Amino acid sequence: MTAALLDTFGRVATDLRVSLTDKCNLRCTYCMPAEGLPWLPSAELLTDDEIVRLVGVAVSLGVRTVRLTGGEPLIRPGLPGLVARLADLAELSLTTNGLGLTRLAQPLADAGLRRVNVSLDSLRADRFLALTRRDRLDEVIAGMAAAAAAGLTPVKVNTVLMRGVNDDEAGELLEWCLERGYELRFIEQMPLDPQHAWDRSSMVTADEVLERLTARHTLTPVERGSAPAEVWLVDGGPARVGVVGSVSRPFCGACDRIRLTADGQLRNCLFAREESDLRTALRAGATDAELAVRMQAAVRAKKAGHGIDDPDFLQPDRPMSAIGG
Ligand code: SF4
Repeated sequence: MTAALLDTFGRVATDLRVSLTDKCNLRCTYCMPAEGLPWLPSAELLTDDEIVRLVGVAVSLGVRTVRLTGGEPLIRPGLPGLVARLADLAELSLTTNGLGLTRLAQPLADAGLRRVNVSLDSLRADRFLALTRRDRLDEVIAGMAAAAAAGLTPVKVNTVLMRGVNDDEAGELLEWCLERGYELRFIEQMPLDPQHAWDRSSMVTADEVLERLTARHTLTPVERGSAPAEVWLVDGGPARVGVVGSVSRPFCGACDRIRLTADGQLRNCLFAREESDLRTALRAGATDAELAVRMQAAVRAKKAGHGIDDPDFLQPDRPMSAIGG
């Protein structure tokens, strides 16, 4: 058997997203209700030792990059210690809402973290409050500056545009990022909300985003590879901007990603409806070789793509906050 995470479409998984918690300290309207969600039982959450072990098995099968996600990963206790152990295994990045970065950016960089993506959907305090139900915009902005100062560069900014909500800020957000040397990514809103209320018409498509940006700047495409974002040089570069058109410009054909949830389930796709339970096997005494076989089986079962355009498309039961970006 090949020692790789190979699916039946010839794609090889080399990028592992690890959700460290399903909890978060924001309540973004498209991700979580104001009261939060029923959290995963703490007894089912992977310990640091279990995460390091499972990442080690994945690395033995060819995983080279690991992205830490949540919920909000920065709220996990002892995070710098876990990062130091994982940084010995793979190239590490992290996706965060930015709260806590002023305190943690330097310790995480010292521990081996390489890059951060910070979510920010508005530069207007009132709108940030309406979108996240928390009045903490200044902390997010200060967190980005702390990440840049700690050398977690280029700081990448993830923005979800919603029609009639914040889509009038596309240009403003780009100017703001260009002034600070941050790399902005616009991400199409995906059907992963806990309310299952996603509506394609409220999604701002990649084409629409590009239309707005090219009204202000000259964009030159950059080679893509398997990365989710299509990237362009802005006005000849070196500044860049990206668009992740998951829905209108799917990139599943070159997908190299798999996901490990905070409760130890392996997902072969963001939109997978089946999961492979690694936690129970691990706690029942499975060897690394047995865990590897489970991982390979899960990847072999990966579908061609997310199927959002299929008439029988069903949104995953697990919400985005418990899958991770
Ligand atoms: S939707 Fe699934 S298959 Fe497509 S790029 Fe995302 S994770 Fe990969």
